[in-house]
Amino acid sequence: MTTRLAIVGAMHEEIAALRPCLDGARTERRAGREFHLGRLDGHDVILVRCGIGKVAAATTTAVLLDAFDASALVFTGVAGGLGEGVRVGDIVVASALLQHDMNAEPLFPRWEVPLTGRARFDADAGWSARLVQASHALAAANLHAHGAAIHHGLVVSGDRFVATRAESDQLRAALSDALAVEMEGAAVAQVCHDFGRPFGIVRTISDRADDAAHGDFQRFVCDVAAPYSRDIVRAALAL
Ligand code: SAH
Repeated sequence: MTTRLAIVGAMHEEIAALRPCLDGARTERRAGREFHLGRLDGHDVILVRCGIGKVAAATTTAVLLDAFDASALVFTGVAGGLGEGVRVGDIVVASALLQHDMNAEPLFPRWEVPLTGRARFDADAGWSARLVQASHALAAANLHAHGAAIHHGLVVSGDRFVATRAESDQLRAALSDALAVEMEGAAVAQVCHDFGRPFGIVRTISDRADDAAHGDFQRFVCDVAAPYSRDIVRAALAL
């Protein structure tokens, strides 16, 4: 079986620096997205910007796994820090993903995805370990990640940009082990689970999901999201 790694980001900035690194790239359009196929440091890859939110992420993931037969997926991007000690500039690798806005109570327990019997979807242990190792290497080399801490744990997703202290306090109270909040990861996780394909998710913390989140986010995405994403993914591929 051929292996083809899908590399996905939600926003232009999250994949922009990877695009010029592709050798022999060609672009195919499907479902309104541009899928860039090529080789990255000798590996067969397909790079795509999926758009923001769970539906955009799910659509793109399904196309990658079905139409393009990607054998594994790595999602790279930014997220809001929730866990104590998860600061702007830190890196979070997801061990599991949960949709914080899923609520079909009283028919199903809070956060459980109806008819799947689960709320949390585990990331692949092998890919997660590679992403953790790559992030440590980056921080040790002081490349962008100056003094950054690397965290590994629960990442929660929902169709909300969490930008008030009140809302992030609520999430922390309800899901005390959540390290970060974003808008795509749990959708990617559910689709990969349905297809039985491994995935890893790595997020650089752009903001603290509080009242300052909007300003922090804009600055961070422009300045550091692109090189961080590029260097972590390349370092993980080399392991
Ligand atoms: N493009 C818009 C909105 C970005 S939405 C803007 O420029 O304002 C935020 C994106 O970054 C999503 O893809 C999400 O996954 C991630 N993200 C970063 N911080 C987040 C937070 N505090 N809450 C939710 N998602 C966040």
